[in-house]
Order: sequence, then C-alpha cells, then structure tokens
Amino acid sequence: MKSKKLIGPQRRLFQWVTTLLVLIIPWFEVGGKSLLRIDIPGLNLYIFGHVLRIQDLYLVLLATLIFVLGFLLITVVLGRVWCGWLCPQTTLSDIAEWSARRLGLRVKNNRLHGQLAGKIMLQAVFIFLSFLVAANMLWYFIPPPLFFIRLARLDLHYAVWITLVLTFLLVYLDLALVRRLICSDFCPYGRIQTAIVDKATLTLHLPDQELERCIECESCVKVCPMEIDIRDGYQVECTNCGRCLDACRRVMTKRQEPGLISYTFGLYGEGISGLLNPRVLLPATAIAALLIVLVFSLAVRPVASLKVAISHTVAPRLLENNRTGTFFNGWVNNRSQEPAVYTLQARTKGTGETLVLKGQTKADLAAGENRRLDFVLLTPSSKHLTVEFLLTDEAGEILAIAEAYIEQQEKE
Ligand code: SF4
Ligand code: SF4
Repeated sequence: MKSKKLIGPQRRLFQWVTTLLVLIIPWFEVGGKSLLRIDIPGLNLYIFGHVLRIQDLYLVLLATLIFVLGFLLITVVLGRVWCGWLCPQTTLSDIAEWSARRLGLRVKNNRLHGQLAGKIMLQAVFIFLSFLVAANMLWYFIPPPLFFIRLARLDLHYAVWITLVLTFLLVYLDLALVRRLICSDFCPYGRIQTAIVDKATLTLHLPDQELERCIECESCVKVCPMEIDIRDGYQVECTNCGRCLDACRRVMTKRQEPGLISYTFGLYGEGISGLLNPRVLLPATAIAALLIVLVFSLAVRPVASLKVAISHTVAPRLLENNRTGTFFNGWVNNRSQEPAVYTLQARTKGTGETLVLKGQTKADLAAGENRRLDFVLLTPSSKHLTVEFLLTDEAGEILAIAEAYIEQQEKE
C-alpha cells in the first residue's frame, strides 16, 4: 500500500522559511526605509516602506488587536499548530536536538547523553545560536549594518548592551537546560488553548476505533520530543508536531495499512463544518471589521501634522505700532512618504484676518521627518484672540491647523 504523504518534511520546510524570514526581514529596505523596524529615538515605526509616527500609534494598536484576535481564531480553528509549526521555542529546541544528534549525543528526559567532546562542541553551537537570536531581535530596532559597525567599535548604547547580554544569556540557558520543559511545564499557551478550543478544532489524535489496529510498536512514543504517548488521548504537553503521525504511517505502510494517527477537525468526526459556530464566526467578523477600519484609517491618515505652543523661555514683547510679538515653538511632522516643503501662516479664528508671522515659517522636510520651528506672531495689542496656524503645502493647500489663545500684555 502506498504511504500517505509524511508531514515532517512540510513542517521542517515551513520552520525554515519562517525562521529565515525573521532573520532577513531587518536587512531589507523599501524606498530607502527599513521593511520593518521600530526606531525608538525617533518614535517611528517603519513598516513596508511607510513611516508611522507616535501620533499613528492607534494604527499600531489596531493592527495588534487584529493580530491577537487572529491568533485566537487560528487556535480555535487549527488548535496547537502554532506550537509545532511556528513557535520559535519549538524551532530552537528542534535545532538544539538536531545539532546534538549530529554530534553523536542522545537526548533523553530533556538531558544530553554522550561524549564530553560532543557536549563541548554543542555548547559552541548554543553560543552561536544565542548570539544570533539576541542580535536578530535587536535588528528590529537598529539597522543590522549599523548594529555590526557599532558592535565592532564597542559603541552600542548601554540599553542595547544590556538587552543583548540578557537575551543572549536567557537563550543560552534555554538551549542548554530548559528546551522542551518550556512547552511542557511553563508555557501558558498550552493551558489557555485547552480553554478556547472548539469541539471541531483541528486535532492530532488516535481515534478510539483505530486502537485495535495498534501493534504496540511504540514508534510513536520513541519519536515524540515531548516524551508522551499519544495513545493515552489528548495531553496538554502535545505540541501537534506530527512526528508520531509520520512514525505510525511508516510502520503501518510496511503492513499495507493506513496509519492510525491523523489530523481531524474534532475528535468525533465533527468535520470542518462543525466550526461554523459563534466561537469562530464572532472573532472572524471582528477581524474583518477591524481590517476595514485599519485600511480606511490608513487611507485618510493626514499627510502632515502641526502642533504649536507659546514659548516658555521667551516672554511676549510689546512692539511699536501697538503690536505684541508672541514667541512660539511649532512642531511639524511630514507623515507622507515623500519630501515636502511646508509654509506656516496665521489668521484670527472667526474673522479669518491674516496675521503676521516672523522667523521660521518655511520648512523643507524629508519623508517622516519631525522638525521644531521657532517663530513670532505679531498681533494687535488691544485684543485677546484665538489664532489659527495653518500648515500649507507648495500648492497652498491647508494640510493641518493648530490653535492658540493669545492674552495681550498690558502696558506698564
Ligand atoms: S504526541 Fe505526537 S504530535 Fe504530540 S508532541 Fe508527541 S510526537 Fe508531537
Ligand atoms: S506507531 Fe502506531 S502502531 Fe505503533 S504503537 Fe504507535 S499507534 Fe501503535
């Protein structure tokens, strides 16, 4: 009998592709900007060639909410597929155990057995992996070429050094001592998952009616990285990696029989249609609605922003011709993807009477740039008034408006 396809090669390919993506994404740029990077000093998020500033945080929160709901939805539909196929902890444990086997070591009860030379060489692998993981995480904050230049010069910010060393140590301890214990004993996801799964969630199991075909070869138990026996039914330690499924298929193919273990939607033949219930439909609807809001918000996002404040350091001055000079600080942010030239104008709110501005009233900003402008507003000394500051582009179109209330100074 022809063996059904094994899922191990597909799982490994998936792990390789996702791991490589995580490693190389920080190296890529779109239009001269990082593909994905958080610029902490500039409070910018670079994402697919776009620059989101702190003012756009609501978009990031919206995207995070979609991600969290999507994660829950995937758990309800696909069960613990995250654990076995995508989780970095599983990938690191797989690499650690694969390296150990290559060096002639055996992994039993999460401990390494074998020659001392092999164990020492394995520590070198762990050190390399730990550095790679720690550096890779930082590349999402510092462009990788800059990271390596500063690292070579020992010129990283102290916060970066602390993050690098701490992450390195944590990953090293994880690889050297903890590995699968995280999944079996510490990770809360497995516990949460038992509470949110549906009766029709995709599950890897050995159906009761197949048990009588089991030849007790124990192949499924021997290959299980979590060292559990799937024949005992659902266990919280199972990461749905599918190794037992492949092992059983190999054994049973030799006997011209199909494997006993399989992925099915639901434990009792519910099928994928069993997922058409509120547990799945509600988050799916919420995600669709939030995606519409996100796309709409991105489309109508202002291309520039303006904030103004009366200077705290320079007091208003009474000038000739019965006028007052009020000193302002303004902050202009080019939120578009192109460089732009902006002009600042002022008018009285209500009447629209044009007011005179002196100082930095023109700014040539790069895409995403935020700049402070210092300027003076001249107003008639006799009146209190609310002033509107207009930020216009080269074509004279108003892009942003900010307001300030002017209390006139009494003459002494
Ligand atoms: S029982 Fe099977 S799917 Fe679960 S962890 Fe063990 S080998 Fe992987
Ligand atoms: S591999 Fe299959 S046949 Fe062998 S013990 Fe496991 S379930 Fe039974």
